[in-house]
Amino acid sequence: MNTIHSLIDDFTGRLNAMLERQIQDRARVAVESAFAGHQRGPGRPAAIASLAAVRPARRKGPKQLCPVPGCKDPAAPVFGMVCSKHKDLPKTKIKKYREERRAKKLKAA
Ligand SMILES: [Zn+2]
Repeated sequence: MNTIHSLIDDFTGRLNAMLERQIQDRARVAVESAFAGHQRGPGRPAAIASLAAVRPARRKGPKQLCPVPGCKDPAAPVFGMVCSKHKDLPKTKIKKYREERRAKKLKAA
């Protein structure tokens, strides 16, 4: 019954050697690519800068107006997206106004 044991030993031994080589290869590749990345260094910040240029810096979309009909005041998130004058209106009303406004906008478009 020694042959099976020696077969298993042989197999595990080879498997270990294979795994070790793979790990070493992978580590080498990782180090090499990291090095390559370093050598490409000067090109990288430029790429990031151009990316930042494409995306406008901290632009808050179009200013939202208070949804109350006839009100031209800007809506503020602190008041639940209505103006300071209408911040005390019930939310259900505001919701209705907003829906009406949206419907009007859709019709206009
Ligand atoms: Zn208002």
